[in-house]
Amino acid sequence: ANLVAIVGRPNVGKSTLFNRLVERRDAIMDNESGVTRDRHYGQAEWTGKSFTVVDTGGYVVGSEDTFEEAIREQVEIAIEESTVLLFVVDVETGLTDLDREFGKLLRRSKKPIYLVANKADTGEKAMHAYEFYELGMGEPMAIASASGFGTGDLLDEVVSNFPEDEDEEEEAIPRIAVIGRPNVGKSSLTNLLLNKERSIVTDIAGTTRDAVDAKYNAFGKEFILTDTAGLRRKAKAMENVEFYSVMRTIKAIERSDVCIAVLDATRGIESQDLSIINLAIKNKKGIVIMVNKWDLIEKDTNTAREFEKKIQERLGGAAYIPIITTSVLEKQRISKVIDKAIEVYENRKMKVMTSALNEIIGREIERRPPPAHRGHHIKIKYITQLPIHTPVFAFFSNYPRHVKGPYKSFIENKIREHFGFEGVPMGIVFKEK
Ligand code: GDP
Repeated sequence: ANLVAIVGRPNVGKSTLFNRLVERRDAIMDNESGVTRDRHYGQAEWTGKSFTVVDTGGYVVGSEDTFEEAIREQVEIAIEESTVLLFVVDVETGLTDLDREFGKLLRRSKKPIYLVANKADTGEKAMHAYEFYELGMGEPMAIASASGFGTGDLLDEVVSNFPEDEDEEEEAIPRIAVIGRPNVGKSSLTNLLLNKERSIVTDIAGTTRDAVDAKYNAFGKEFILTDTAGLRRKAKAMENVEFYSVMRTIKAIERSDVCIAVLDATRGIESQDLSIINLAIKNKKGIVIMVNKWDLIEKDTNTAREFEKKIQERLGGAAYIPIITTSVLEKQRISKVIDKAIEVYENRKMKVMTSALNEIIGREIERRPPPAHRGHHIKIKYITQLPIHTPVFAFFSNYPRHVKGPYKSFIENKIREHFGFEGVPMGIVFKEK
């Protein structure tokens, strides 16, 4: 799991850098579902290597001149959990005491850290970057997040720390991550699957079990649960409970094939839930939504259906994700969730024969061809599924760049209609023929 954390005192431009790194990849889904853009983590890619970026500043809102305990703890968590750290300072303001405090903590880390001298829009300002040598963290890299100056060089450095794409372990056991906000019932589920109380589940948000990537055998199925909010540490500051849970969630998602996204039925689907689900989608993992604590809901015959509809609305285009209501407490439909997760795992591995694709989807395209672009007919000559671990379909065309989002959605829907892929995010790419 490649996790890059952006740390530094307030107002140095952490969130500008964050937005620059994740580009607009995340914003789109958000607009559709009307979610506020309070996202502090997102998916980024550079030279074919993908990673998750966390803007630590979003979780603890600290003051500009005191080093609060909560921030100290947050930096410690970031050091423990991330692959690479970006320590951002501001060349306009210059070196401050608070920068020194951050530096003191970060210097102890054995993880790769880049000292990023931000707001260096001009050569003259970039000269001021040298002032930060004093922090003893090596050469400052001058960048300007707002314009993107220097971020390419920075990213080259960052991704050089990531391991080469390991071949997908050919282990045939599904890797499942149980993800969700604190207190939705993740550890209760894990404990139930484990069939013994391996740890204490309490009402306090953020407390959970201590199991890492354990192999399970439940309901006659074999699978591995990748660790989510394991009790390696318990965040002391309230503000860090969510931050820590997010860091661990990101890692669990990256190491999994399928994510069981747990919601609390009594709270519905909130923006935090959507952010977590979107992250799994961006990572192209299989997804099953588990609406837990269903025992607490007063229901009639339509309640589940209505709930499902509401969730699908909030998810925007992701109607392919299965939704199952459960009660861990009353052991209701837990085996259904596991069955579905394993089914989704199989769906994700499915390969459609090229001949079938061209014949069946080709016919759909004939029936409704892409809209012409400035009088040019857009033709699709050939369709094939790429030989990678997650379904991506390549369409070879004379004007690949002029095929727009709505048409891609149309094609995706048709592929799903004919071939399934329930619970699996899908890629549709257009290429020059
Ligand atoms: P986590 O933070 O997501 O791991 O959540 P926990 O597993 O610690 O659960 C939080 C609280 O919700 C605990 O008090 C559980 O007993 C309770 N809980 C979990 N699942 C259910 C359920 O299906 N029904 C009800 N009523 N309570 C549940």
